[in-house]
Amino acid sequence: MKFTFVTLFENLVSFYFDDSILKKAIQNKLLHVAYVNPRDFSVDKHKKVDDYQVGGGAGLLLQTQPLYDALNHIKIKNPDAYFVFAAPAGKPFVQFDAKRLARKKHIVFVSGRYEGIDERVVESFCDEVFSIGDYILTGGELASLVMCDAISRNITGVLGNENSLDEESFEHQLLEAPSFAKPIVYANKSVPSEFLKGNHAKMSNLKNELAKLKTQYFRPDLFFLAKTRR
Ligand code: SAM
Repeated sequence: MKFTFVTLFENLVSFYFDDSILKKAIQNKLLHVAYVNPRDFSVDKHKKVDDYQVGGGAGLLLQTQPLYDALNHIKIKNPDAYFVFAAPAGKPFVQFDAKRLARKKHIVFVSGRYEGIDERVVESFCDEVFSIGDYILTGGELASLVMCDAISRNITGVLGNENSLDEESFEHQLLEAPSFAKPIVYANKSVPSEFLKGNHAKMSNLKNELAKLKTQYFRPDLFFLAKTRR
């Protein structure tokens, strides 16, 4: 899978691939990461990349021409690339999207800055627009990284143990059951005794019941969905 990040601030993104699982995935050639800076496409002699909003409005926008030309350049060179824009106005990015997008060959993440992006650029290039939550970030880099990370976990070979994906939160509209590491007693709290009996069938039922309770408590919206789909 190839990821191209379109950003004015490559350093805000590249550090994330310097460690851990995604670094290993790059070394193993499962992932390839590239960067395109709209500033390199600016025809302005000062390489300006911000501009006032037509019709007024607080704050500046990313200038239309450098971003449009940068995206056009990528599209011409990679006709099959899939363009994902980060924007608060996008649809909420969820685990289903992470799994679905893991089947693409090349995703281009477009990060806005300032007060955002000219709507015509979004319309011209976007395959999908996603929000990572109902709050405003300074720029789209974190949102793009969040999506990239969640997608990468679902690419075969990226995680050491693919079985762990099946028991994760959101897999069956449920949160994952509580889990415990050694020692059995820590800070005066013990692991529930049922976890120590070594009966795999009982353990699996118990975990399923605990997952339901946890979902009901923390995410009643998800629990309701799980119930209606059962
Ligand atoms: N004026 C915009 C609005 O009210 O919708 C917010 C612009 S924000 C300061 C700058 C950039 O950060 C956006 O263009 C987008 O790329 C990114 N961004 C901010 N919040 C986001 C979110 N919740 N999800 C995805 N991207 C976000």
